[in-house]
Amino acid sequence: MEPLITTIPPGPRARAVLERDRRVVSQSMAREYPLVIERAAGTNLWDVDGNRYLDFTAGISVMNVGWNHPAVVEAVREQAGLLSHGAFLDFCSEVPVRFAEELVKMLPNGLDQVYYSNSGAESVEAALKLARRHTKRKYFISFYGGFHGRTYGALSLTATKVIQRKHFGPFLPVIHAPYPDPYRPFGLESVSCAVDVVRYLREEVFRTEVSPEEVAAIVVEPIQGEGGYVVPPPGFLRGLRELCDEYGILLVADEVQAGCYRTGRFLASEHGGVVPDIVCLAKALGGGMPLGATVASEEVMNWPPGSHASTFGGNNVACAAGLAVLEIMQAPGFGEHVREAGAVLLDGLRRLQERHEVVGDVRGVGMMAGIELVEDRVSRVPARETRNRALVRAFERGLTLLPAGESVIRFSPPLVMDEAEIRTGLAVLDEAMEGL
Ligand code: PMP
Repeated sequence: MEPLITTIPPGPRARAVLERDRRVVSQSMAREYPLVIERAAGTNLWDVDGNRYLDFTAGISVMNVGWNHPAVVEAVREQAGLLSHGAFLDFCSEVPVRFAEELVKMLPNGLDQVYYSNSGAESVEAALKLARRHTKRKYFISFYGGFHGRTYGALSLTATKVIQRKHFGPFLPVIHAPYPDPYRPFGLESVSCAVDVVRYLREEVFRTEVSPEEVAAIVVEPIQGEGGYVVPPPGFLRGLRELCDEYGILLVADEVQAGCYRTGRFLASEHGGVVPDIVCLAKALGGGMPLGATVASEEVMNWPPGSHASTFGGNNVACAAGLAVLEIMQAPGFGEHVREAGAVLLDGLRRLQERHEVVGDVRGVGMMAGIELVEDRVSRVPARETRNRALVRAFERGLTLLPAGESVIRFSPPLVMDEAEIRTGLAVLDEAMEGL
């Protein structure tokens, strides 16, 4: 394998493409550094100038089985030649049925019907509509730091960054509660752990903001993604489950980022020991093809024909790619590898913390890990600029990483990354963080 980058990017071809991009494409995306990808394979990306990068992003937690996995590529090729768009909204075809059969096999009992869409946001929209229809209630509860997408319903739940919401309201009626972040208890001193958040919902929110009988669903990420790879303390999901059961509220797990074995289990909520009423999946599900799924019990999924659908939902190529993804994930040892390699990753990040004062916190489950950079370890003031500099320096050394939250670097490599590659990546980052 050739070395990581040979010339500091962006090279001449990348520069030219970026210039054209600025002229004709909306610039509302959040790009951290000037990478122009040409091709990818496994755990590697190549830019248009021929530089190789070791990838710790998996294309925002999408390429869990590796970029361009041969089985996924083959499935896409074959299905595109047979039937790409099956108009599943109006006509039935077998591939989406087969995918749903395989998907529900990987989920706990009770999650056995699939609604198809094309993205994470759409899978969340479907969950909101389902919850309102099923409960005949209007309100939702979600969490500060939560990210659920940028369409109106999903954006109403989202409370990650001001820029995502500013000037876009009014929103759906959503009450935001603090997420139990062990490193940062969101300024509410009493709300410092899982039990306190659940008690806060019960004793404050339900008494002063909304009656629990008006709440259709609590929507939660089992581990917060965009908000900063925040791992809640044990007991949080169980506390929410009990609260939901007590008041007839549906528990919606947004597993768009944390699901699909990212944490070493197919669903991240498995770690919390709960079965949600509705699960939202997308990202890694289609192995790079747009595929979203909202899964619930037959009882909850009982909306009448025509009440919700989309032209591309259940697309045959996306479902064929998804079938290849599930087959790879069903192979013996897949989850075990994620758990073992994830332990190596976390261990390496802890050693990085010992060497760099700027690393305030290290956390993660499986291959969903984050480090939070701080001005100093006592004040814990987020070191946003330092974090951004670290990302650019890593990029210039051939390592692709993404930010999360205010000052977090996230590590979400393709799940097939081996321990040697993890160590290489950490060594490159270690060097990039020297004298930040
Ligand atoms: N939910 C979560 C937890 C996510 O991380 C994201 C995307 N980062 C979404 C929903 C939205 O997904 P999409 O961008 O596919 O609409």
